[in-house]
Amino acid sequence: MMVDMPIAPGEVWLVGAGPGDPDLLTRKAEKLLRAADIVFFDALVGSGVLDLIPEAVEKVSVGKRAGRHSKDQESINDLIVRAALAGRRVVRLKGGDPSIFGRSMEEMAALASHGVQARICPGITAASAAAASMGLSLTLRGLARKLVFVTAHVREGDQLDLDWKALADPAATIAIYMGKSSADLLAKRLIAAGLPAATPVMAVENASLPEERSIGTRLDLLGIAARSLGSGPVLLLVGEAVSVRSAQPARMMAEKGEEEGMKALNG
Ligand code: SAH
Repeated sequence: MMVDMPIAPGEVWLVGAGPGDPDLLTRKAEKLLRAADIVFFDALVGSGVLDLIPEAVEKVSVGKRAGRHSKDQESINDLIVRAALAGRRVVRLKGGDPSIFGRSMEEMAALASHGVQARICPGITAASAAAASMGLSLTLRGLARKLVFVTAHVREGDQLDLDWKALADPAATIAIYMGKSSADLLAKRLIAAGLPAATPVMAVENASLPEERSIGTRLDLLGIAARSLGSGPVLLLVGEAVSVRSAQPARMMAEKGEEEGMKALNG
């Protein structure tokens, strides 16, 4: 028997829903979903996760996909604040981890300005889910000592304003969120800043879900790869570590003998 996490009336929890697969939800998140009386959820929250919310709990979609205005965020803040002030037990359910490109601080600040208590329950972020599905490691001894989380989301009319020199580090893995539509530009800028055109990349759509699709290619073909995926959320991974996948060393072991295979695996 799972003991439910209590939520005080008027209290808010920001809860990470993980990448989509309901089995990748934390036990704590599941307990909180059962203890809530209202759940506000994003467009990216998987339907399997929503199915875990009891019937009696009110479910409110505050779905927001790329391209909409920040006014939407304000009305989301208002909704959550009002529910809390009305004494309800509130869960704000967000895709992946709330602390990664989740605008959690805007919601926390809005709540705090009304004297509302808010706490955070972490979730599995898209990069971790994509790496697991692909059988790769985001960091890799000798190849990737650094992991960078970056968003390539650009508001209409805005420039993609990133520190390209710093990003184009051949010893890093770059996990790019919201980068599907700017994949071409991203690749061009990274190559111009010094990353080899042949740097391995992976585009993963719907990581952890049954509809998951992925394309592994090289940096100069990242745009084509991203375009050939569907309309689901896409995570882009760039860096040498991306090409070292768990299936590969096994094949190498068979071809080259165990010693070299192990060397490849351990970097
Ligand atoms: N807080 C979320 C990220 C929100 S930004 C997290 O920690 O994962 C939304 C972006 O996340 C999407 O545009 C996509 O780049 C990525 N994303 C979220 N879920 C994903 C999934 N299941 N598969 C691939 N990418 C995903």
